[in-house]
Amino acid sequence: MPELPEVETVRRTIEPHVVGRRIVSVDLRERRLRRPVPANFGERLLGRRIHSVARRAKYLLLDVDDRPPATPGSSASGDDGRLRWIVHLGMSGRFCVGDPPDLPHVHLVVELDDGARVWFRDPRRFGAVFLSDRAADLGAIGIEPLDDGFDGEFLWRATRRHRRVAIKNLVMDQRVVAGVGNIYANEALFDAGVRPSRRSGRVTRVEAGRIVAAVRAVLARAIASGGSSLLDYRDADGNRGAFQESFSVYERDGEPCPRCGAPLRRSVIGARGTFWCAGCQR
Ligand SMILES: [Zn+2]
Repeated sequence: MPELPEVETVRRTIEPHVVGRRIVSVDLRERRLRRPVPANFGERLLGRRIHSVARRAKYLLLDVDDRPPATPGSSASGDDGRLRWIVHLGMSGRFCVGDPPDLPHVHLVVELDDGARVWFRDPRRFGAVFLSDRAADLGAIGIEPLDDGFDGEFLWRATRRHRRVAIKNLVMDQRVVAGVGNIYANEALFDAGVRPSRRSGRVTRVEAGRIVAAVRAVLARAIASGGSSLLDYRDADGNRGAFQESFSVYERDGEPCPRCGAPLRRSVIGARGTFWCAGCQR
């Protein structure tokens, strides 16, 4: 499942292809995604110019705040102000530039005024594509882990509010901090030397600071590597990420700990595979 580094990599790779371009055709082939695509999606998007591509948590936000030219008989411009074309990759979504592959599950193809095409493919259909002018449409989302406000004090205060929750589940709680999924929670807790099953109430202030520093560092390194390609993740240009080759613990149970050499362990916390070293993580 794409996590923050993968979505950020898609954002960075799609941005140069789409910013400043106007949308000249919208081919919506499948509306039955996790969140059904409204029937008027194409009508509302058509004719608009894309001004920027941002990311919030694991959502891509394409600002399309230009009103389309009025067309007689069209109801396309029923709204004013900033409108965003929002894309969520779900479990298996790809949001790419280029000719759409001749494969099933290409749900959306958008053509730009320079002839480039942007397409969304999602075999498992857990993704989402919609238009919104309200931030509230994204639901309750916690702080961005790469923002300055995510510091040791922030996480320590969260541990006081959720004392009984395993620290790994707290780090993965999207309402607390956004975009950190299973891979990067495992890696960050190893780097911080904190056992994933530890109750949050038993995490010290110093450890909270170490965990935050580790989360930020592992996300930054993963983004620099173009994310992690485990199954079918690709960036907007179709390239695989490389960070899966740098995992310290994720899916490496039985292999020697990169720090102490003891065999890495696997357990299940919150129904997710958890990888850790009994010697290095307390
Ligand atoms: Zn170790």
